[in-house]
Amino acid sequence: MRFAANCVALTTVAVGLAAAPAAADMKLHFIDVGQGDATLVEFPCAAMLVDAGAEQNLDYDGTAALIAYLDAFFAARPELDRTLALLAVTHPHVDHTRALPQVAQRYTVANVLTNGQRSGSGGREQHGLQQRARASRSAWKRNRLGLAAEIGYQAVTLGDGFPLSGLSDPVIDPIACPAVDPVIRVLWGEIQTSNHGLGGSEVRNLNNHSLVLRIDYGQGSALFTGDLEEEAIELLVERYAGTHRLDVDVYQVGHHGSGNGTTAGLMAAMSPKLAVISMGPPCRQGMDWTGGTWVGRSYGHPRQRAIDQLEAGVTLSGRDDPTVPVATGTYTFAPRTLSKKIYGTGWDGTVVVKVQADGWVDVVETTGQPACPSSP
Ligand SMILES: [Zn+2]
Repeated sequence: MRFAANCVALTTVAVGLAAAPAAADMKLHFIDVGQGDATLVEFPCAAMLVDAGAEQNLDYDGTAALIAYLDAFFAARPELDRTLALLAVTHPHVDHTRALPQVAQRYTVANVLTNGQRSGSGGREQHGLQQRARASRSAWKRNRLGLAAEIGYQAVTLGDGFPLSGLSDPVIDPIACPAVDPVIRVLWGEIQTSNHGLGGSEVRNLNNHSLVLRIDYGQGSALFTGDLEEEAIELLVERYAGTHRLDVDVYQVGHHGSGNGTTAGLMAAMSPKLAVISMGPPCRQGMDWTGGTWVGRSYGHPRQRAIDQLEAGVTLSGRDDPTVPVATGTYTFAPRTLSKKIYGTGWDGTVVVKVQADGWVDVVETTGQPACPSSP
């Protein structure tokens, strides 16, 4: 395999250096946005968001749910001044990007991290965010957009020279809290070289270009693989074999718990203490004005195969209320009793995981089973 580093740091914006710590821990808020990903990472001195997806149909407004959650969060942390130190987008599919325009308008976004792509079902939103960051370099455009400061922006691509330790710099990791300095790294990005070991259809699959993010907070750590699929995950595992870069405490389950979003090799490399799946509830019909029903049940998320891998590889056991619906296919679910700490936004609502600097992790809050107004 050969990888090229085509990462261009256009600007750098440091955030959080002077803020007083409000809590000593990192908290991962896996926000219930229906079928989609949006994870708020809360630090003592700053906050960042990984993806801004939102399910949108006649039953549910995931954008409103995300904005309400972020508003309440910033109301509780006024010293953060409604600022996201980093807005990272794993890939341009709408279940990861739908609410980007609203988030960018409503809050101060200091840095933007994407894989640089413009196509895909969320290409418009991702491209718009990238354009906004680029425009912010001009004082005149900043003024027109109502931006107080330049937005740092970086698009990450994989290729020759991509560091074996992963990529980190002041745009990818703009956060430096006084007591514990979190470390944010990108381990995967847009594939550009032809010699990457993937076939044509695998390269055309935008999921395989997802940013993979690792966040370390003292001895605690978390991994986000976006919607990376099996073939790319195998290359990811091969690439970081022997480095411990994939060895983490918290795993945001890849591709919403699809059967192709987690592999035995990845589970072995991570040995996570707990795992959280971002997916919509299985009971929501989700009919929209086009007749579409792209919700958790139509995708069959999470799939039995992924749960088997999580049950085998997650190390902590003993979650409360452990019987949950697991998909045996699209639209078909069966109850499953979990022995390990595996949570899902479609089962539990928003899931908040506390990560202490000494490596202790656990779920500290769930908002409860999401509402399903058109349950079958
Ligand atoms: Zn997705």
